[in-house]
Amino acid sequence: MSAGSVIEGAVIMTQVKNNKVKPDTSVQFLKGVGLARAKMFSSLGVETVRGLLDYFPRDWNFAPEVSPIKDIKPGEEVSIFALIESTNFRRFRKPEMFEAMVADKSGVCRIVWFHGGFLQKKLKPGQMIMATGKVGEYKHQAQLTNPRFMIVTDDSVDPSRQFSGGVYPAKGNLTSRRIKHIIRRVLNNVEDVVDELFDEDFRRRLNLIDRRSAYRWIHDPPDEDKLKKAKRRLKFDELFLMQAGLGVRRYRLRHYYRAVKCVCTDKIDKRIRKRFPFLLTDDQNEAIKEIVSDMGGEKPMNRLLQGDVGSGKTVVALYAALLVVANKRQVAIMAPTGILANQHFISIERYLRKSKVRRICITGGLSGDRRKRITGDIERGRYDIVVGTVALLERDIDFKDLGLVIVDEQHKFGVRQRQGIRKKVMPHCLVMTATPIPRTLAMTAFGDLDVSVIKHCPPGRGEVTTRWVDSKNKGKAEEFIRKRLKAGNQAYFVYPRISSSDTSGEIKAATEECHRLKTVFSEFNVGLLHGRMPQRDKDRIMQQFRRGKVDVLVSTVVIEVGVDVPNATVMVIEEADKFGLATLHQLRGRIGRGQAKSWCFLFAQTDNELTRDRLDVMIRSNDGFEIAEQDLKIRGPGELFSTRQHGLPDLKIANIIEDYDLLVMARREAFKLIEDDPRLVKKGHLSIRKNLIDKFGSAIGLADVG
Ligand code: ADP
Ligand code: MG
Repeated sequence: MSAGSVIEGAVIMTQVKNNKVKPDTSVQFLKGVGLARAKMFSSLGVETVRGLLDYFPRDWNFAPEVSPIKDIKPGEEVSIFALIESTNFRRFRKPEMFEAMVADKSGVCRIVWFHGGFLQKKLKPGQMIMATGKVGEYKHQAQLTNPRFMIVTDDSVDPSRQFSGGVYPAKGNLTSRRIKHIIRRVLNNVEDVVDELFDEDFRRRLNLIDRRSAYRWIHDPPDEDKLKKAKRRLKFDELFLMQAGLGVRRYRLRHYYRAVKCVCTDKIDKRIRKRFPFLLTDDQNEAIKEIVSDMGGEKPMNRLLQGDVGSGKTVVALYAALLVVANKRQVAIMAPTGILANQHFISIERYLRKSKVRRICITGGLSGDRRKRITGDIERGRYDIVVGTVALLERDIDFKDLGLVIVDEQHKFGVRQRQGIRKKVMPHCLVMTATPIPRTLAMTAFGDLDVSVIKHCPPGRGEVTTRWVDSKNKGKAEEFIRKRLKAGNQAYFVYPRISSSDTSGEIKAATEECHRLKTVFSEFNVGLLHGRMPQRDKDRIMQQFRRGKVDVLVSTVVIEVGVDVPNATVMVIEEADKFGLATLHQLRGRIGRGQAKSWCFLFAQTDNELTRDRLDVMIRSNDGFEIAEQDLKIRGPGELFSTRQHGLPDLKIANIIEDYDLLVMARREAFKLIEDDPRLVKKGHLSIRKNLIDKFGSAIGLADVG
């Protein structure tokens, strides 16, 4: 610590009288805060006393307790509390040095600060000083050299606590030390500001300390052990409240809305299965069992179906759709983009040939009278299955009798949107996602959904080999690709951006590269696909690629969503280091869809170790779950998975990866609680209820549940 920062804020403010503070008192009204500092606090996200107490230290100091001077020994870390008897500035020593002789009842001691000229104005004989540091020896006498120190003007405070305690993220004149003192003062009346959530039995069973001690110790831990206990308790509370919030939301969805029962008989089951030219895999059957059981009840299903690209989700979703149709209700299948909606429609068409199910795909291209007629027909119930984009189906169309909404989110999690749908009508809801969601996230961001997982892909898939290619070997790779093309296969070339002008220029432009590739692969047809092309052109190019008229498809990440061309066995991802692992995996899922062996080339020029680690994960593994876990470990939960995005407050102290065990425990306990008392109105649950409302506001609808 530099000498400058030692001085600043060194004088202890006088202890204030106890005027009663409550959890939602604005920090502005706390002694020592005022308007200016309240603004500063606000910029740190702290508005109220509750927020202040949840402003946790980023680190902690453990200063030793004060020792009598006679007991201090060279080599020890000590704190002393003593009277300054004399001071002296030795200007002509090299280096210059400020010294003070100090005394307590037991003895005297010398303190020196090298380069301490600035202390001449600060330290005066007659002052009480608290100093902490390592003991040295000078002429057989104990001496403190460059200790941290503080002038103590108020004898009602315990000097030994001044150096210990939390270190806070500071801002402007709101120093860490200032924050510490403000929080300590609040904690002097901890009963006024912190409620216990759990009774003693509960705490004993889960080995948790009481909540008030936890708050005191997290800010001002007497020792490492107590700090550990405090952290554990507060992390548990945070996870517990989050899970209880999810539990309440889930309960509400199930009990305040009704869905239409869709029963599945053996006859229906047989009829549906006849549509598939293959036997379903065990994973598919298991998922279907769960879905059938959900939809046979009157509570709306709220289920997430996850599985890698190509794992066979569409088949499962179609089963659910046909079950609803058999029960004479409508189904909406929503995709994020028009291309993907078309793709879905094409793939379900394959299974519905000669079926009487009335189905239609509507995308942005539709307009005028035709559109009016179709939406009118949907409203009159003349279509059973409607496929379209989320935007379209959600906004513009009323269904006569919607029994099921299937949302394909690929890797974009539009959970908010899903709630929008649910408000209008109360169909069952099945969300498909190709992003394998690590177990931690399945329990948090998606904690109010039930989850079905398809782990194993259907048999008969070609293996995908992934290679990293640096600029030296690009030519070789292109020659290899030429051979595959000659053999009649097709290839994707993927680029991060449309044109170099929309970023630093460093990023390869798909448009420009397309020209280059037309020369490199002059004997083949090279086509371009990007997000800014008119829908009609996109559809045309896709059609040509599907039919094999285009051999090489150069594209931006748009192909990420929904392309299924089994004959495409090569993928080149340019500047692969610019993509996240989830995206790379998603892209790679577009090849290996047929029986033939496929190759994925990651073009990247990098010396960055982290980047190499990430690419390595791709080369080693084809398992989406493993890749997602690795990605989470390398990057942290990050924006994509921020809980705030889902209407839940972000976690302040717990970490869903590091504190996984606590998360599991908290989830179990919270769900048990909600089961027992969903409205949280029983006597022992009121403070949990209060804390939930404070934390989540209206996001979980608890306020109107009671
Ligand atoms: P996803 O929607 O998860 O990407 P799809 O449902 O589109 O996967 O299935 C991918 C491919 O696997 C499709 O061509 C489909 O016909 C095929 N498929 C799905 N289920 C099976 C199965 N049980 N046996 C054999 N092939 C299957
Ligand atoms: Mg699919």
